[in-house]
Amino acid sequence: MTNRILVTGGAGFIGSHYVRTLLGATGPGDVRVTVLDKLTYAGNPANLDAVRGSAAFAFQRGDICDAALVDRLVADHDQIVHFAAETHVDRSITGADPFIRTNVVGTQILLDAALRHGTETFVHISTDEVYGSVDHGCLETEPLNPSSPYSASKAASDLLVRSYHQTHGLDTRVLRCTNNFGHHQFPEKVIPLFITNLLQGRSVPLYGDGGNIREWLHIDDHVRGIELVRAQGRPGEIYNIGGGTELSNRELTERLLAACGVGWERVDFVADRKGHDRRYSVDFSKIRTELGYRPERDFDAALARTVAWYRENRAWWEPLRAHEPAAA
Ligand code: NAD
Repeated sequence: MTNRILVTGGAGFIGSHYVRTLLGATGPGDVRVTVLDKLTYAGNPANLDAVRGSAAFAFQRGDICDAALVDRLVADHDQIVHFAAETHVDRSITGADPFIRTNVVGTQILLDAALRHGTETFVHISTDEVYGSVDHGCLETEPLNPSSPYSASKAASDLLVRSYHQTHGLDTRVLRCTNNFGHHQFPEKVIPLFITNLLQGRSVPLYGDGGNIREWLHIDDHVRGIELVRAQGRPGEIYNIGGGTELSNRELTERLLAACGVGWERVDFVADRKGHDRRYSVDFSKIRTELGYRPERDFDAALARTVAWYRENRAWWEPLRAHEPAAA
């Protein structure tokens, strides 16, 4: 039987990769997908061009905080995969309001609709940032200790999702992923920001001493993990997912400079981000053991392909940066 999947935030970076994969040659084949997306600055209809002609695809522009719209859409779908969120930590520091509305209230509106309409499975995309700054790979059972308004809003939604399983028995499944990278990522996140700055002949802003550590997950590995959890995960469970490559921002910068053929003279050390978490890290042995997940993308090769994509697809990202001042 065809599975009708409502994908929120499907015009963004991860959501659009997920939708293109679901409806692509390696997808499950028995699905129909509706994307619900508000098309904020981060949502880009061009990200869905590859599937626009598919009979199994539909797009609805709208806000997950619009309860009437959400109710109507959820009624017509079997499953929900929930990506929609305000996602940039720096923006949450200068204005937390949209983060609370979309990430917390929007998630609650979706959950209530899922409950009313007996949604079979609700997959929620959370983040490793909910654990806060850590000195070891966190297990799913460890307490949440978010630092930024962004991660606090994600922790709130993550816990809300869990509560709808605990209280109402809704089949919810949560993924807590590490930092994603790959093509089609909005050029405000560090990898595409640095690549596009360097391609434009600008310098790159490195926070603090550059010693903050992140684990990198290629988008293809993440999308595979999401599909494993949607199709084979257990109700009520949380799954950490990572890519296995931990780097300081200095080490990452070194690689990006080399990939673009420039040196450290193109780096500006700038004042650290307020409340900047030193290290995120997850233990993802649970998804390995239970669902057979393994990261398959070699970091350096995947980073080189990502740089090449931005080099070859200026028409995608240049308009997104056009409003910015010329010098950085
Ligand atoms: P993104 O910013 O690229 O895309 C977010 C999408 O959500 C956009 O298309 C936007 O238009 C849409 N959206 C925002 N508010 C909405 C609303 N009120 N109603 C409907 N749509 C709305 O984000 P992303 O990087 O693709 O992240 C997707 C999810 O993964 C988010 O929940 C994020 O917290 C999580 N996540 C991302 C990363 C990462 O490295 N990118 C890491 C951990 C977790």
